[in-house]
Amino acid sequence: MGELGVDALLLSLGADLPWLTGYEAMPLERLTMLVLPADGDATMVVPQLEAPRVEPRPDVFSIRPWAETEDPVEIVAALVGARTQLAIADRAWATFLVQLQARLPKASWQVASNVTGPIRAVKDADEVAALRAASAAADRVADQLISGEIPLVGRTEAEVSADIGRRLRAEGHDRVNFAIVGSGPNSASPHHSAGPRVIERGESIVCDFGGTMNGYCSDITRTVFTGAPPSEFRDLYNVLHEAQAAGVAAASVGTPCEDVDGVARRIITDGGYGPYFIHRTGHGIGLEEHEDPYIVGGNCEPLAPGHAFSVEPGIYVEGKWGARIEDIVVATDAGPDALNTVNHDLAVVEA
Ligand code: ZN
Ligand code: ZN
Ligand code: ZN
Repeated sequence: MGELGVDALLLSLGADLPWLTGYEAMPLERLTMLVLPADGDATMVVPQLEAPRVEPRPDVFSIRPWAETEDPVEIVAALVGARTQLAIADRAWATFLVQLQARLPKASWQVASNVTGPIRAVKDADEVAALRAASAAADRVADQLISGEIPLVGRTEAEVSADIGRRLRAEGHDRVNFAIVGSGPNSASPHHSAGPRVIERGESIVCDFGGTMNGYCSDITRTVFTGAPPSEFRDLYNVLHEAQAAGVAAASVGTPCEDVDGVARRIITDGGYGPYFIHRTGHGIGLEEHEDPYIVGGNCEPLAPGHAFSVEPGIYVEGKWGARIEDIVVATDAGPDALNTVNHDLAVVEA
């Protein structure tokens, strides 16, 4: 905050609040906001009926419950006082920001992630351990997928997605965040939401799933083929596999984020699939499934020890098929540390 000249941080929805206080605000129309001045004590403004869920941490913040007939925006504005350089939670509701802007006309605003993003992006040893445990649990489900333990042919994408979600929970996840199952032509849609389409033989199936375990996220993608894949698909997959491995290998400390993207993208482009790789190579991961640092062209930030992120190139031929391979990687002084270790070869499942 000092470096950025921020007088007060206003945290609400999103992961910054639980990261600092242990309390996660519910996405409600009632305002929850931690007012954290650079030069004073932090106060959690919280609806009175939510206050019992807040674990008191008097050494960290005081609690200001507000009753139904009070105006929480006024309470926050009073706590901000004469401070003018404010950073507000990226995911705070616009309704509260608009009201605060009206009450604090002299204030200038920026997003809280300017302050919290770079700090949260660097994981300490406990956080890496939590990410490793979540990735290992996701790996066990991915193993079940590529070994053919999860039936595919004849089931709908939605059934397989629900099955994957149950298995994530069985392997220790507290919450399933997503379980993308894109089959056949749907595998060409990177964020396809699993639907009623029945999986057939002779199709590529992109499965991208993850959840939260002890507060930290997992995120893995494996692509399987139902039956023997045609050589055209094998070629596509081989290029993708090489690109993903090269991206992981390039993820060493000091390498700019965009270079990791560039390494993977060049291989895919040289292989003739450049126009079919339609997203960035990866995203940071931690308390949130997508956070800093982003592995994308234009992000010149060098990787630092403790940066945790995905490397997930994909190739998508619209209307036909697609493939993606994704692992979570941590940059360390000893080199890239891949948290997912499940086999990357094109898995052929018969059922
Ligand atoms: Zn993913
Ligand atoms: Zn991802
Ligand atoms: Zn591999």
